Amino acid sequence: AVFSREHQKVIDDINDQFQLPNESLISITKAFLDEYSKGLSAYGHPMAMIPTFVTGTPDGTEKGTFLALDLGGTNMRVCEVNLRGDKTFTIRQQKYRVSDALKTGEARALFDYLADSVDAFLSAEAQHADASESQPKFVPLGLTFSFPVEQTALDSGKILTWTKGFAATNAIGNDVVRLLQDAFDRKHLHVKCVALVNDTVGALLSRAYASGGCTLGAIFGTGTNGAFMDDVSKITKLGPNHPAISRGGQMVVNTEWGAFNNSRTHLPSTPFDKTMDRQSINPGFQAFEKFISGMYLGEIVRHILLALIDSAPQPILFNGASTTSLNLQWGIDTSVMSDVEDAWGAGSTDGDPVLETIVPNLEKLESLKGDKVHEKLEKVRKIVVEKLGFKDEQVSVKDAAIVRWACSLVARRAALLSGIAVAATLIQTEHAVLQEGSTTAKPKKHTDRAIIGVDGSLIEFYPNYERTLRESLRALVGEEIEKKVDIGLAKDGSGAGAALCALQAIKNT
Ligand code: ADP
Repeated sequence: AVFSREHQKVIDDINDQFQLPNESLISITKAFLDEYSKGLSAYGHPMAMIPTFVTGTPDGTEKGTFLALDLGGTNMRVCEVNLRGDKTFTIRQQKYRVSDALKTGEARALFDYLADSVDAFLSAEAQHADASESQPKFVPLGLTFSFPVEQTALDSGKILTWTKGFAATNAIGNDVVRLLQDAFDRKHLHVKCVALVNDTVGALLSRAYASGGCTLGAIFGTGTNGAFMDDVSKITKLGPNHPAISRGGQMVVNTEWGAFNNSRTHLPSTPFDKTMDRQSINPGFQAFEKFISGMYLGEIVRHILLALIDSAPQPILFNGASTTSLNLQWGIDTSVMSDVEDAWGAGSTDGDPVLETIVPNLEKLESLKGDKVHEKLEKVRKIVVEKLGFKDEQVSVKDAAIVRWACSLVARRAALLSGIAVAATLIQTEHAVLQEGSTTAKPKKHTDRAIIGVDGSLIEFYPNYERTLRESLRALVGEEIEKKVDIGLAKDGSGAGAALCALQAIKNT
């Protein structure tokens, strides 16, 4: 069937709505920096810029064995981390599922479940342990809690809000360390929670341990967030008399950048974004995160595909057919987008024949038969059939091309916006200067390398994610700085980071 002009127009319109030209990237970065300074100067701001009371980064010589508990992602983990003092560590861990009932039920039940899991982990371990070994009075544990918390010390902080599908009652406003310690005490466990750390801080600490330093820890997984080291004097909301200010030096700030654009004034939101947001558990909140992270991207793609399936007077996609996963909210996981793009084959999206053919001329696809491109699209078609649950005959190569286009459209926007968060942090910490017009200013801090520790399935697995993020960085801080940016996986950041933080807490006491 020949593609009508009307259909082409629908596709082109959607395509336009997702574009972020360089001027937009620059103005969003300015707004992002503005939110950084607002959050550093006052409490109660959406971008919370939380002081973490972590005042130093490890250099790789740290030693010791610690328990770590990690809550905040798709799974909950209990780990035993052994820091070997030579930039390496070993980790033994067990993952536990957190059911939706626990996520949205009574907080006490959730924290009892965490304590039970630690108990189960320790019991399993005790079977291997040498019984003659003297047991310490209590086992120190670092808690990685990846939700917004207003931290008041290394080992205390009030829960500000839930994100990422959590909504447990009687938790907001309470000290999360207290909630956990009470659960340990109810079960008479000899475990003491000595440190509270966000996963971004964990990523920063663990990359610093492995590399000897780190400027930014960032997560691009179920959600997105970042933490960076800055002069404590810039955290003016602490007040001039705060001991941390008098002490001076540096402190890690947990930005909670997922809340950027909660005012809805900075990012161009499409109808697909709005529908997804409206139906989410936290409409209007975590606005930046909803453009970027794994929990949401698949859902945005699903809404694009549905619009094309349901288009009138004629369907544009799948002859108007749908499937159970397409019909279900959250029915398309972001990993499906990865699979679709993988099937096409990784590589540069510059000069990508599918993207160029589909927009602005989908009709040309017909002439690609027998072509290499056609072979690659056939692979995509098979994945679409399998992952979306179609019958083979229901999906054409044209459909496959459209799905692949929708995935890369949404993912590309996410990666460009991720680049904004990284660029803004480099600018905030004076490692870079925003490139605007004919900027010639040089950053204050000269660095050979800006080390960034990252974690999350999106940056780890999504084809071209880092490449596109770097494209955004080049537009914002220039190629010279972008080349110095060393982005590396902070493996087990939440485990090793919690251990490193627990070590710092024990040293302080
Ligand atoms: P978490 O952030 O929960 O600790 P992950 O970093 O694994 O854990 O992120 C999980 C999120 O990443 C989920 O939202 C999932 O949809 C998405 N995801 C899982 N696998 C992939 C993949 N291969 N490519 C892109 N996204 C993925």
